Amino acid sequence: MRFSTKQVHAGQEPEPITGSLNTPIFQTTSFVQDSVDQYMNKGFSYSRSSNPTVEVLEKKLSILEGGNGATCFATGMAATQAVFNSLLKQGDHAIVSQVVYGGTYRIAKEIFEKFGVTFSFVDTSNISLIEKHIQDNTRLIFTESPANPTLKVSDIALISELCSKNDIYHIVDSTFMTPYLMQPIDLGADIVIHSTTKFFDGHNATTGGAAICKDNTLDQKVKFIRNTSGSIMSPFNAYLTLQGVKTLSLRLDRQCANAEVLADYLENHKYIERVGYPGLKSFSGHNLLKSQARGFGSMLWFEVRGGLEEGKQFADNTEICTLAENLGSVETLITHPAVMTHAYIPRELRLEMGVTDSLIRLSVGIEDIDDLLDDIGTTLKNIYE
Ligand SMILES: *Cc1c(COP(=O)(O)O)cnc(C)c1O
Repeated sequence: MRFSTKQVHAGQEPEPITGSLNTPIFQTTSFVQDSVDQYMNKGFSYSRSSNPTVEVLEKKLSILEGGNGATCFATGMAATQAVFNSLLKQGDHAIVSQVVYGGTYRIAKEIFEKFGVTFSFVDTSNISLIEKHIQDNTRLIFTESPANPTLKVSDIALISELCSKNDIYHIVDSTFMTPYLMQPIDLGADIVIHSTTKFFDGHNATTGGAAICKDNTLDQKVKFIRNTSGSIMSPFNAYLTLQGVKTLSLRLDRQCANAEVLADYLENHKYIERVGYPGLKSFSGHNLLKSQARGFGSMLWFEVRGGLEEGKQFADNTEICTLAENLGSVETLITHPAVMTHAYIPRELRLEMGVTDSLIRLSVGIEDIDDLLDDIGTTLKNIYE
């Protein structure tokens, strides 16, 4: 089966008793056991450990990523935390992409460092720089690519190779790509992390996360942590996410196409200083991403002429593009990373990452492209003319 068929059918069968085509929401805490000796013979006991609706989503995500087991969480951050908990202990060291989702930086600094794990935030687009940071106690490399929000591209296959040479794990946060566009396990990664809140859901309805493992032993470790810490996705969110995943490739095709047109438009606009979109030939990671992914995604950023004030005016005055902290959904959303998603990261470090005060991030939706062009064009005109 090809991707678009798998996203609809993989992992899912009609419910055996009633024939319900949609996977039901198993809204229950407990599963009645046939006898003490037959404990868990139907596979379920208590919904903190696992739940049938959640498990169907896990089967689907595992197949879509080409993994051997997936674990779904209440949020993307819960997935990252569980993966760190599974692989790191006191005294260990981890390398994390310098350009990274703000919450990932925060969990490393505020939680794991407190328990004696050390981190190096390294430009993972530079392989020799990564090599320099590998220590005897380095246990994992955590790569986000294209990274939030500058879209810096790292070489997943090359880093995976470096990891296996040094006997360390390679974790990839592939939220911006989804398995429709890129499959990190196929490129050598050990675990893929997703915030399902974003493209998998696609409708701004749920928060959720997933960790998909290359091998079953790793998957069991992650599931042990989830059961122990109690961070499982709810059955209702799993149900909604299952509905979302079925149209993932359709939405992404439109979103990527819209993003490409907008990036071209912005690159040639007199009131725009800089544009970043991996699909632009001028973008530094363009060729690398082209070699590892089947599309460039629907995230882009730009800086308007002037600076912070004009950037804020833009974000506040569009009609269709909506100022909201999410991405990957059918609506086109604007965020101002320095103030919103990346506010926790110290300003100096933020600037080093390329997250300037006037950088605006756009998550391009599925609206009619002409309406998006009109909206952005009119807003710019109103600011400068
Ligand atoms: C949103 C996001 C996360 C965190 O996911 P939540 O569901 O918000 O917890 C992690 N990584 C990336 C790249 C994200 O965009």
